[in-house]
Amino acid sequence: MFLRELTVSIDAIKGIGPVSIHALAKKGIYSVGSLLCYYPRTWEDRSQYIPLKDFSSSPVCTVVQVIARDWFPNSRTGKQDLKVYVADTSTRGVLVCFNRPFMKNQLMVGKYYWLWGSFQYKFGELQASVFEVEAVPEETGYEAMLDPAARLLDKALSQHFGRILPVYSLNEGLTQNMLRRFIEQALSHYADPLADELPGYLIQQHQLLPKSQAIRAIHFPRSLAELHQAQKTIKYEELFYLGVLIGKRAQDRRSTQRARCGHSVPTSRSGTVSPLQQRLLERLPFTLTQGQGEVMSAINQDMNGPYPMARLLQGDVGSGKTLVSFLAALRGVELGGQAALMAPTELLARQHGENAAGLLEPIGIRVAFLTGNLKAKGRAPLLKRLSAGEIDLVVGTHALFSKEVQYKNLRLVVIDEQHRFGVLQRQAIMSKGAHPDLLMMSATPIPRTLALTIFGDLDISIIRDLPPGRKPIKTHLARESNEAKVYDFVRDELAAGRQAYFVYPLIETDERKSLKDAKSMATRLAQQVFPRHPVGLIHSKLGEEEKRQTMEDFRSGAIRILVATSVVEVGVDVPNANCMVIAHAERFGLSALHQLRGRVGRGETQSYCFLVYSDSQTLGDTSAQPATVLTDEGKARLKVMLENTDGFVIAEEDLKLRGPGHITGTEQSGYLPLGMADPIRDAPLLEQARLDAFAMLEQDPDLLQREHLPVAQVLSRTTPFPV
Ligand code: ADP
Ligand code: MG
Repeated sequence: MFLRELTVSIDAIKGIGPVSIHALAKKGIYSVGSLLCYYPRTWEDRSQYIPLKDFSSSPVCTVVQVIARDWFPNSRTGKQDLKVYVADTSTRGVLVCFNRPFMKNQLMVGKYYWLWGSFQYKFGELQASVFEVEAVPEETGYEAMLDPAARLLDKALSQHFGRILPVYSLNEGLTQNMLRRFIEQALSHYADPLADELPGYLIQQHQLLPKSQAIRAIHFPRSLAELHQAQKTIKYEELFYLGVLIGKRAQDRRSTQRARCGHSVPTSRSGTVSPLQQRLLERLPFTLTQGQGEVMSAINQDMNGPYPMARLLQGDVGSGKTLVSFLAALRGVELGGQAALMAPTELLARQHGENAAGLLEPIGIRVAFLTGNLKAKGRAPLLKRLSAGEIDLVVGTHALFSKEVQYKNLRLVVIDEQHRFGVLQRQAIMSKGAHPDLLMMSATPIPRTLALTIFGDLDISIIRDLPPGRKPIKTHLARESNEAKVYDFVRDELAAGRQAYFVYPLIETDERKSLKDAKSMATRLAQQVFPRHPVGLIHSKLGEEEKRQTMEDFRSGAIRILVATSVVEVGVDVPNANCMVIAHAERFGLSALHQLRGRVGRGETQSYCFLVYSDSQTLGDTSAQPATVLTDEGKARLKVMLENTDGFVIAEEDLKLRGPGHITGTEQSGYLPLGMADPIRDAPLLEQARLDAFAMLEQDPDLLQREHLPVAQVLSRTTPFPV
């Protein structure tokens, strides 16, 4: 029997009552199988004797005799609390039983107890208020005290000592002891017949444990070595399944394509630039960077190949991904289809739409722009042309996959800033065509291990170079109290004809005005700081028309200073703007800071980014609270920004600071079917399991038909992967 077939209800376990059943249900535990998969949060090693005198390095694990007891008044509760004086062979200590008067019945003077606790010196005593005790049987007590190491290791004596104990995360109605008891029961009745899920040769090859032993040992390991082996086994198994899922997706993709191959595309000339692409390139005032050229070739190859493209294009902010997507669109059109370019914000979609019109219409491409805000009047004819195939490239937002939108022959889907879209949205746009080619783009680099995990079935291209002539952006930190200097600096740049962004964390603030906000700062900058230069304001609450106008004015130079919230974070491209001032920079995440900084440095002039931070200063009126306290993490982020410009390095630093769960693009990582494995920490195991899974799929494509691997069951769940 496989673990996942252990669907017996947990009522079957002795001693489990309605209260516990309710509490377990809240954790999603209904069956014995799910109970056994409720892995410990951590483990306490109570197999080693650690006498009281060694309290400083770890909790103690010893045998003590109770010497005396005493009551003392608790000034907070007004009640009496119990103090119990104990001693082991090394020294004396005190157990302080806050709010636990019942302990008087459990700790008797003269008797012996196993003790686990964290001690500290307080008021001249060695005290513990967090501890666990268990009475040592009468007849062995004194001996145990004399020879605690040996005794403690003798498991037969104690439930909770002399062994490595699991520690579970709890919720109301559950205690450690309850969970330990239930799981021990479940193990003793159900663990033995558990069948291995992994093929035997892999268990052997990687020295993993048989499933039944792994499950037992993950809860109650007999040694730390066994625990590590059990962890490795379970992690490997999860990662192997993940590998199978990903490998299967890649296989499926190839087989759909084979079917499509019948009416497939002509292969292009030996060169990797198609005629339409060539026409666009000739019109550009610059040449492609090496990275852009390579990606274009890869895309051409994919799009001419026998199966649909599924490519993730990563390139730092400003590396010129948009142009690459236009080139891909041209290839799609040449192959007789339509292309859709989807962007996460209307602002960005519009910018792409305008660029596309400017660059592609002159070479005969019919471009349209579609967002949810498009009025009915323009909308109906547009949809009609789209479904009639009279539009070659449609640029827009989520509206591109709304119900009434139909394509004649959607051949290519480009998703810009792909991490801003959910899995379902990506699937929705894909379903508008018959296996269209897919190009996903992101300026938020995903470290390799995560990319393998999440996008393991995609081909990944990286543009590592920036267009030539760009000067590295100079980044400066400035205390808020020094912001006048920043203003002076920006004033000089404005006088030289440049433009600037000022970004604030909020649109408006609360009445206390503890933070600067975009609205009031727009007024202040316009009236007091830069009275000679036109100031514009943009944030998410403005109407689309107003946003559009403001952006256009900024682009044309009619507005010289753009005050904004993080709406300008993605995509906005105005090369003449060379100053980025971010207020309360300590409040922004690393990825946002990097994206924001990437709004400048897009032209040939030197650009500057000022990270203005407030360190618990009071602003404005005196009744205000301190604005923010600069946390260590906030400081660390600013330091990373100051020292790095490479988006990949910044992403890695972000990972270190925040942990993988928070990486942009994996927020929906609920879709990783992982319980114990961590794709970052367990990267080597991940790669191994992935290779093994791919190899197995390769050798044995009928794997799914085979009954003995529960992989088939895992796969039959609707797969939550991106595309
Ligand atoms: P991102 O990769 O961040 O989306 P964009 O596509 O917005 O970058 O491009 C940034 C800017 O670089 C745009 O103004 C674009 O016209 C310009 N650009 C793109 N490719 C090149 C190139 N090969 N040489 C010079 N400038 C380029
Ligand atoms: Mg972009």
